[in-house]
Amino acid sequence: MDPFFLADGLVALQSGALVIIPTETVYGLAADATNPKAIAALYAAKGRPATNPLIVHVADKAAAQRWGMFSETAHKLADAFWPGPLTLVLPMTPEAKEHLAPAVTAGQNTLALRMPQHPLTLAVLRSLPFPLAAPSANLSNQLSPTRIHHLHSDLLAHVAHVWDGGPCIQGLESTIVQVIGDNWALLRHGILTQEDLTTFLKTPPLSATTAAPGQSLRHYAPQHPMILNSTIVGPEDALLAFGPQVPAGGMITRNLSVRGNLNEAAAHLFDALHTLDQWPCQRIVVMPIPEAGVGLAINERLRKGAARATL
Ligand code: AMP
Ligand code: MG
Repeated sequence: MDPFFLADGLVALQSGALVIIPTETVYGLAADATNPKAIAALYAAKGRPATNPLIVHVADKAAAQRWGMFSETAHKLADAFWPGPLTLVLPMTPEAKEHLAPAVTAGQNTLALRMPQHPLTLAVLRSLPFPLAAPSANLSNQLSPTRIHHLHSDLLAHVAHVWDGGPCIQGLESTIVQVIGDNWALLRHGILTQEDLTTFLKTPPLSATTAAPGQSLRHYAPQHPMILNSTIVGPEDALLAFGPQVPAGGMITRNLSVRGNLNEAAAHLFDALHTLDQWPCQRIVVMPIPEAGVGLAINERLRKGAARATL
């Protein structure tokens, strides 16, 4: 990676400013995880509640071991799935308690760690003496950005540098796994599915998915109301379609995957919602998406996006 290409953003991060980083999941709003002022600015820019902890991004497993206590299971997961869309929630090391900004973990005794897969962001992480706290680069509870043009001007007003890494190839936030000794619990569905993890670890998760802290009921939300699991489309509706059989009649249609492939649908989900949300429609109607495999992660995002703000 050309060091001159990285220089402006690296200087910004070292001075405690916020920058935009590309990842394979969604674009991140990144700051020095050891700098309390930078972390406070990050929460403020997103309008993120202080109860919602951040994921700390590292260049490799060795860097992660400075901050999180790795059990044998944690080692296995990191060796198999990093770099990639898997966040590990681990007990903190004494060094993490001493050096990370306390707000990063929102008062938890555990820390969320991930090694992202994007070459540009990995080059950034390798060039820095500190890890990056990086939540999704959206205003709190709004749609996550998977393209540079999805970034909201209100957020960009707080940002010193933007690294454009192209479209995010996976398109959904990381799967979050809490590792408790040699057991594990799934805290958030993602592209890496519960079946994938159960097969790999040869043991099921401790319980059904438990809610991760800070995950409000309404999240990932477009401006327009969303109607889920429907094929009834009026002339004033925008349609988020899935599969080959698409009802006619909407103002605009975006198909997540004509061939009904769930990974392709995940990669297109936020881009399609950003596009439909710009239309002067009454509602966004979403066709049924299978509740299996990556479909669980897609439907979880859609249900939260459709939840009413008052709940
Ligand atoms: P985001 O960065 O917006 O994708 O959200 C990160 C999510 O990771 C948070 O909303 C939490 O639910 C989860 N998370 C981060 N840190 C922890 C932690 N220490 N324990 C459990 N979950 C966490
Ligand atoms: Mg987020």
